[in-house]
Amino acid sequence: MTNANGEAVGIDLGTTYSAIAFVDETGRPQTLNNAEGEKVTPSVVLFEESQVVVGKEALKAIATDAPRIAQCAKRELGHRLFGKTFGGKQYPPEVIQAWVLQKLVRDASQQLGGVNRAVITVPAYFDEVRRKATQDAGLIAGLEVLDIINEPTAAAIAFGAEHGFLRADGTSSKLQRILVYDLGGGTFDVTVMEIHGSEFTTLATDGDVQLGGFDWDQRLVNYAVERFTKAHEPDPRQDANALGRLWRECEDAKRSLSAREKTFIGCEYRGNAMRIEITRPQFQDLTRDLLDRTAFTTRQTLRASGLQWADIDRVLLIGGSTRMPAVRDLLHQLSGKHPDVSVSPDEAVAHGAALRASLICAQAAGTPPAFTIKNVNSHSLGVVATDPETKRPRTGVLIPRNTKLPAEARRLFKTQKANQRSILVQIVEGESADPNACSQIGRCVVRNLPPDLPAATPIDIAFRYEENGRLQIRVRVAGTKAKLHHELTRENSLTPEEISMWRAIVQKGGRSL
Ligand code: ADP
Ligand code: MG
Repeated sequence: MTNANGEAVGIDLGTTYSAIAFVDETGRPQTLNNAEGEKVTPSVVLFEESQVVVGKEALKAIATDAPRIAQCAKRELGHRLFGKTFGGKQYPPEVIQAWVLQKLVRDASQQLGGVNRAVITVPAYFDEVRRKATQDAGLIAGLEVLDIINEPTAAAIAFGAEHGFLRADGTSSKLQRILVYDLGGGTFDVTVMEIHGSEFTTLATDGDVQLGGFDWDQRLVNYAVERFTKAHEPDPRQDANALGRLWRECEDAKRSLSAREKTFIGCEYRGNAMRIEITRPQFQDLTRDLLDRTAFTTRQTLRASGLQWADIDRVLLIGGSTRMPAVRDLLHQLSGKHPDVSVSPDEAVAHGAALRASLICAQAAGTPPAFTIKNVNSHSLGVVATDPETKRPRTGVLIPRNTKLPAEARRLFKTQKANQRSILVQIVEGESADPNACSQIGRCVVRNLPPDLPAATPIDIAFRYEENGRLQIRVRVAGTKAKLHHELTRENSLTPEEISMWRAIVQKGGRSL
């Protein structure tokens, strides 16, 4: 296999499944099979004595070694440590993600030769902290992260490529407005985009980082346990391995119900076994409120984009959970259109990321861009200010959500006393007026202000969101040319030293130094 871009790949680092793709010499994106011969790799890590095992083997161990398995680390990005302990040790979620990336890249390298540059995707709804954590996971896995792009944008790019909107001259392409509904294993998001010629513009995006196929599985698990415990004791959920086995049964039953009207869940614990029948309508009743939550977010996002269903040309379904017939029916009902399933829901995101990687490589080599991406921020960026009336802290919004990126906001802070040498700015992301209900990005400390500044000297701080949703900060003292040193101390994020340490550990193939 030949990769048109040297070793740059696109990676869909999913909550439950991940995929990796490259652009071949004909310019078409191709998914790379993993060493097990599959297009998607479970984002699951098994902690063995001195090393880790990733993917299908790790997922299988959920029935026998559940306490040694890390799943859904993506949901915990932004936390300092992953909730579960392995061998008495807790790991940062980005390190667990790095092991998944390493497995994908290693398997891809078998086919492409060395792979060391990648575009990695994130849910559009990810905040700055989680984007940084994803980028760090890439670094720890030994990758140069060319860009972080949004999953729905990647899907739309793959869709655009499939339907020929990406021709270099951009002719004959008419304006297309699409709604991307992405329901994966652990996250849900919905994005309204405009494709005009070769330009991809996000109009609005929203989502839920705690909603996905996993929650549908959970409903089946609860249902099965309810039926089981009516006849037998004890509750299989109290044993992690029994729960792991049951969960796999339920996930399997869920997949069956996408294809047929009824199926059975096998539940066996302490010598008691039961075959529990479940029909599709029953399953849909058990999970209706979850589906309703996605409908609510979908309507809200459409409203935020300023469009109506009649303006939407296509509804794109992405993510494995959109295979559930109830999802297709819902979107049909909401939009009055048949959802587009022309790009594979498992591969579209990785394909779009690969096309993006290929574009970056081509641009570096001097070729004009085949397409451009315009994004919006998914969360309002603010600083913690004091309410002059109540004297209580409140969020001062600098860049409201759904602003086109890159976006910059400047704010003048004033020194409070004469000869003040430093200023502290607390940065948050979120929609609440209460800063404590927002996501804490961190503190920015501006040090070494020039001496002898009078009280109330304005300090000009510019916050800039880059296209990829990452934050840059610039500080100036009004009236001077002094370049000021500032440090952004992040709340829940690895330091450069910690990143190098983990990078060395992961490269060595171990789990500790
Ligand atoms: P993520 O990107 O969040 O990892 P994916 O897009 O890979 O997720 O989707 C994985 C989810 O899709 C899992 O919850 C899985 O159970 C679900 N899924 C996959 N195939 C089917 C199917 N045929 N019917 C219902 N759900 C499915
Ligand atoms: Mg996904």
